[in-house]
Amino acid sequence: MKRIHLYQLDSSAYEHPEDRRTLNVLNTMSCCEGIIKGLLDWNGVKADYVIRKASNYHVTHATCPQLAKLIDEAISILSIDDVPRVYLEWGYNINGYTRGYKDTTMMVLNTGVIDLMTDMEQTFVIGHELGHIKSKHVIYHTLGALLTSAISNIPIVGSVPEVFMLALTRWSRMSEFTADRAGLLACQDVDAALTAIIKMSGVPHKYFDKINIDSFLKEAEALQKELSFTDKAFEKILNAMYNDHPWTVMRAYELKKWVDSGEYERILEEYKPLVCPVCGHHTDKEAKDCPRCGTTF
Ligand SMILES: [Zn+2]
Ligand SMILES: [Zn+2]
Repeated sequence: MKRIHLYQLDSSAYEHPEDRRTLNVLNTMSCCEGIIKGLLDWNGVKADYVIRKASNYHVTHATCPQLAKLIDEAISILSIDDVPRVYLEWGYNINGYTRGYKDTTMMVLNTGVIDLMTDMEQTFVIGHELGHIKSKHVIYHTLGALLTSAISNIPIVGSVPEVFMLALTRWSRMSEFTADRAGLLACQDVDAALTAIIKMSGVPHKYFDKINIDSFLKEAEALQKELSFTDKAFEKILNAMYNDHPWTVMRAYELKKWVDSGEYERILEEYKPLVCPVCGHHTDKEAKDCPRCGTTF
């Protein structure tokens, strides 16, 4: 299936509204990039980068040609500026993560992503991680954690850190919804995106051919109804229990809801490029001529 390379895609077009709101606030604090970079380095980002280089399998066109091609395509489709170095880590969890900032940006994928997923499911996971990079989630998660620790050292505001942590945890969950949207925009295959999430939920390899998207989504709808009765205290417990990625059932539900809202199709249409019939260069769909070869459209 030919996928649309989204010309100069702006992450604010697909970010989950709650994620976007928090990013907007944090953007006002990012006036000094040097300080943020220093804080990230202080948090071991540089050390982590060196450790990956020293320990993990580096994905290149020579070492993993098929995977490197999927990554290149996803980078182009999502219009990613901070291109990550990609490493593999041994482990059969279907998961990945992103670290670093600008020239130290890196993505780490578990072996399970490669061995247990189809190309388009892998692209969903790759796109998800690229979504975190594009929305600068790594920077702001680190900044948020540092602010929390700074606030906790001020005796007079002793009760703030818990509130702040819960807000951060909730935002972290919303940022996963944003990243899932980026994953779908990268693979442009709703079924592959949903089966990727379902595989993360614990389906054994021998039952992959039994994966049923509809029944998984029905579970999600039922859970959504149960959660509508939750009180604030319960939500606090849920937030506290959440660690790295949000529940897969809720992620599938949120992603399907976004597709059904029509936003997914709208973004594909809005960011569709004009492809030069002579040299194949992608440009703005309003362009009158090709910036590369000069062909008049
Ligand atoms: Zn994520
Ligand atoms: Zn051209």
